[in-house]
Amino acid sequence: MKRLFYIDYPQESYEGQMHRYRCAFCKEETTKINGNLEGHLPTCEYRIRMEKEGHDCAGKSIEPASHDTDDYD
Ligand SMILES: [Zn+2]
Repeated sequence: MKRLFYIDYPQESYEGQMHRYRCAFCKEETTKINGNLEGHLPTCEYRIRMEKEGHDCAGKSIEPASHDTDDYD
């Protein structure tokens, strides 16, 4: 399961910069995240939660899953 955009994460504005926003969890700027799950840090609560729910990071292979897992990374 994968969404086109991941934009339902909690955001907060930069102090004194009303037009700039960042993820409330990992503090990555929204323009850097750009709606991609992979834009969040691997330690981000939102990203971890989404991955637990079965969402894949964009950029991963979208081909049928191979169970040939002898090649890590
Ligand atoms: Zn985040």
